[in-house]
Amino acid sequence: MTRRIVITGGAGFLGSHLSDHFIGRGDEVIVVDNEVTGRRQNIAHLESHPRFTFLKHDVTTGLPIDGPVDLILHMASLASPPFYKKYPVETLDVGSVGTRHCLELARRTGARCVFASTSEVYGDPLESPQRESYWGNVNPIGPRSMYDESKRYGEALMTAYRNAHGVNTGILRIFNTYGPRMRWDDGRVVTSFLVQVLRGEPLTIHGDGRQTRSFCFVADLVDGITRFAATDHPGPMNFGNPDNEMTIRTLAERTCAVFGVPLVFSPPLPRQDENDPMQRRPDISLAQQVLGWTPATPLDEGLKATYAYLASELGSDAKRGQP
Ligand code: UDP
Repeated sequence: MTRRIVITGGAGFLGSHLSDHFIGRGDEVIVVDNEVTGRRQNIAHLESHPRFTFLKHDVTTGLPIDGPVDLILHMASLASPPFYKKYPVETLDVGSVGTRHCLELARRTGARCVFASTSEVYGDPLESPQRESYWGNVNPIGPRSMYDESKRYGEALMTAYRNAHGVNTGILRIFNTYGPRMRWDDGRVVTSFLVQVLRGEPLTIHGDGRQTRSFCFVADLVDGITRFAATDHPGPMNFGNPDNEMTIRTLAERTCAVFGVPLVFSPPLPRQDENDPMQRRPDISLAQQVLGWTPATPLDEGLKATYAYLASELGSDAKRGQP
């Protein structure tokens, strides 16, 4: 049976991979994206497909969708620290007002509504690994607050609509994910290091590089999200790769080793901000038990796939430093 699926942020990194998945399995996909960070080129190959529709539209102004809907994936978000710091009000709006519009559409149509929340709801965590039961350590007025609190508010709104209106809600908490279709200029650590390797530039480590992240490849994440979307589970459920927890310094070393380039660091840089989490590692036992999901892609393989994508994106201009 063909289902009708709305994906906000569907021209972005995760949303476009999810669009591919659902078109591939025979569903109808409606992408809603205002292209603030999403890019049309991510879905260009789908645009002539008879089961695909693109709406250039800002979800914070409503969701003008008629007819039945089976599933809403609210992926629209300014997910990279430099972008959400540049657009703080838009970031707060898309997690709050945008989520409200998704939930209203779900309420009208009976669709399941899945919200892309984040490991940032744990803030700078005082326990590791982070379980879903941990409430977090978040600064509500700090440099990451526009992102963290918009996602925390979105989670609260999802919970309220489930309890007050019986909406079939599902909260995902996504940990650092990387892969093809990330913007080369989004400032996140994997893309930054890979672009620096491509251009033969020194690697930029913020602070002493002892902060940790756990890196999950996008294909693994899409597998987890689609399994979760097919259930009625409310979440929150962690998605990430606990086996790939490493310091940022180790990531720099691994990246240079994979591509056989010498490890050269830029002059010392300050920490990105004072609330930059020191450690981040998901406990994914809930997803393992409920969905039978475990990420499988080794870091080296994921880095090579992402490098190939960025190399083709930047082309020969990368070497001149003028993309
Ligand atoms: N980082 C870094 N160099 C860079 C980009 C990021 O050292 O060029 C650090 C950043 O300060 C943070 C970690 O890498 O401690 C992960 O940053 P990212 O922006 O990828 O995502 P976050 O997990 O902080 O949302």
